[in-house]
Formats: sequence, structure tokens, C-alpha cells
Amino acid sequence: MPTRADITYFGAGPAALPTDVLEIAAQALLDFNGTGLGIAEHSHRSELATNIINEAKADLANFLDIPTNDYEVVFMQAGGTGEFAASVYNLVGAWVARQHAAVVAELGSGADEAAVVAALRDRVEKKLKVDYIVTGGWSLKAYQEAIRLLGPEYVNLAADARTINDGKFGKIPDPSTWKLSEDAALVYYCDNETVDGVEFPQFPAVLAPRPDGSGPVVVADMSSNILSRRVPVSNYSLLFFGAQKNLGCTGVTVAVVKKSLLPPTTSQPSPALLRKLGLPVPPIMLVYETIAKNNSLYNTLSIFDVFVAGQVLKKLLRTFPDKVDGQQAVAEKKASLLYSALEKYPDVYRIVPDKSVRSRMNICFRVTKNGNIDESEKTFLKEATAQGLTGLKGHRSVGGIRASNYNSIPLEGAEKLARFIEKFATA
Ligand code: PMP
Repeated sequence: MPTRADITYFGAGPAALPTDVLEIAAQALLDFNGTGLGIAEHSHRSELATNIINEAKADLANFLDIPTNDYEVVFMQAGGTGEFAASVYNLVGAWVARQHAAVVAELGSGADEAAVVAALRDRVEKKLKVDYIVTGGWSLKAYQEAIRLLGPEYVNLAADARTINDGKFGKIPDPSTWKLSEDAALVYYCDNETVDGVEFPQFPAVLAPRPDGSGPVVVADMSSNILSRRVPVSNYSLLFFGAQKNLGCTGVTVAVVKKSLLPPTTSQPSPALLRKLGLPVPPIMLVYETIAKNNSLYNTLSIFDVFVAGQVLKKLLRTFPDKVDGQQAVAEKKASLLYSALEKYPDVYRIVPDKSVRSRMNICFRVTKNGNIDESEKTFLKEATAQGLTGLKGHRSVGGIRASNYNSIPLEGAEKLARFIEKFATA
């Protein structure tokens, strides 16, 4: 029977957590700080719970350099998938609020409510669009959720990477070809596609704010690469990520929301108005202004999960005095080791995504040794497992091999896998 020390786990999420963090968490589950009660038993309304939330928020902002005057950090519970919906509801709500103000300015403050609603409805029908840049399985799911919630007439597929890569994901269409809508309620992309191994090399310049601060309302899913590189936070209206890859254990999702999209600057439209406009009313626990107003405690939040994320952040801050830049250098080094090992043997391995968009986090490849892909991948996985290199099977939708190179994989773990890749090729 292997122990934790024998295994390097490359699963795509949930991912491995640092053992010392788990030891602290295990103790905290039994007795938190000598209170005689475990962390999962204490009230989410207790002072200690609030302290855990506030510390985790501050440490996250510190590690990532989030400008906290302009951005709010909230913990939520609906996973990345819940954020697909939350981003639509909240940013369409903010768009409606902006249009409402414009209509009132146009018609004059004395205009009757029916006239305002009619003018607003006209704007919704003619102008409301949410834009999606689809570069892999997760942005595709987000796009499909937007269609499900709003109806296809409001959802614009601004780019579909499959159209430039023989029907498969693996490239990012040149931003000059993106068909962005005018004044879209949001422009959505997934910074790192976990299943397809496609990562945006950097923030797409076409989406950058203009010098006067105006510009597209950009939303990014950073579920699988957060905390692994510097994020130009000010370019985003919203970014979100589930905890279960680079931050902590499954159960909490973080949203970083631009404060100008929250009260007092922007308030979500009332349910009555949304109904009159034929737009969906969000479940209360997906409304950022409600969650932010209650410091993430509108309803019962798993404080244990926030605690684990907080301990991971404390460890990162201890390990890297230069914060995320330090972690980024390690992530790049590990990814480069693995890609170099694969590239040495083009007859044995085929890296799936195009070189220009290879993910540093999810390294997706096929094993083509002896021409029989299925058999060689089975053998690869079996032999890797025997060496303690586990969790390498690709996502069920695409097959192949996927090495998820998250922050908890130590450099030695990546070196061990790189050695195995070379040994397997030459055996
Ligand atoms: N986005 C990305 C990039 C993901 O990798 C995942 C899950 N692996 C999700 C969203 C969905 O997250 P969840 O399972 O927490 O809903």
C-alpha cells in the first residue's frame, strides 16, 4: 500500500494538497485552536469564522496584488459551474442598470414608469448581448449555460476555436477575428482550459480598458490557473475560480468583483423589472451584491474550506517572498521540463494543443508509441502508476494523458514525471 509520500498525484481537480496543510486541517477538524470544538462545527456566524474569512481574503489579495480599493473578494459555493450562471445574471443586471439610467436621462425624470419599461425593453431586445470566446470544453459549457438562461438571441459566439483547428480545440483564434458586440454586457473567456490544455499566453490586448477606463466588461474563468501567474486584475470586471485545483479543497469558489459593479455605484435591477423585461431573476445566493454585503455569509458557508484555502495562501506567502511571481517561476520551470521531455520524442508523444497556447497547468498529450495509441496509453498509465505517478488519465471527453501541474506538485514531482516520460520513450 502506497503512502502519501510515495505518490505524486497529477489529477486535474480535486488536486493534491500540501501534506503540512492537511495536517493542520486534520487537527483543526478535531479541535480548532484549543476551543474543544472542530472548525467544521463552529458557527459560521462566530468571530473566529469571520476572522478566517477576512484573513483568507487579505492573504489572497496580498499574494495576487488585488487592488482592494476597487475589487471585492467573495467566497461562494456553487463551483465554477455556478459562476457560469452568476456571471450572466450579475453582468446582465449591471447592463440593465446602466441602460435604465440612460433611458431615464433620455426621457427625463418625470417620465412614467410604463414608458421607461417600454424603452428599456426595446433596448434589451435590440442591443443586449453577452459575448463568449470559446477555446475549450469549459468556455463551451459557460456559453451553453448563457444560452440556457437567456435564450440564444442574446448570446454571441464571438469566437470558436474549433473552426480553425479541424473541429477540435487546441488553438486560440487571433483576436483580430473575434466578432465582439458593441457594448456587450460581458465578454467571457476561460484563461486556462483544463480539459484541452489550452491557456491564454497573456491577457488579450483587444479586451484591455481604454485610457479613460472605459472598455469591455471582461469576465475570466481562472479555475485551473489561479495563483500560478500574475493577473492584471484591473483589466477585469469579474474573475472567478473554484478552490479545488490551486487554492484548497472542493467546496468554495472565489469571485473577484469590480466594486463599480456593486452598490452604491451599481445596484441590481428589481425582480419585478427583470420579469417585465423578460429576463431571468437570479437565485439570491448567486447575487454578488448580496454576498458581498454579508461578507460571504449570507447563508451557511463551509468555514473549513475557507480555512484550508487560507492555510494554502499562508504557505504560499511564506514560501515566496516575491509572492505570485515566485510561484509563477516554479510553474514555468515545471511545465518547461515536462514539455521538453515530450518534445524530445516526437515519434512517441504528440502534444495536443498548438505550441503557442500550451497550458502550463494541464499538459495534454497522446502516446503514439508503436502506432497503437490505446494500447500505448494504457501501458504508459500502468507503468507510471507503478512508479507512484498517478492521476494522469486524460478527461473522459478527450482521452489521452493529462499531467496537471498545479502548485502543489513539487519541482521534484515534475522532474520524476519528466524522467519517466523519457524512460518510457526509450524502453
Ligand atoms: N472551469 C474550469 C476551467 C474547470 O476546470 C472546472 C472544473 N474542472 C469548472 C469550471 C467547473 O467547476 P466546478 O466543478 O467547480 O463547477
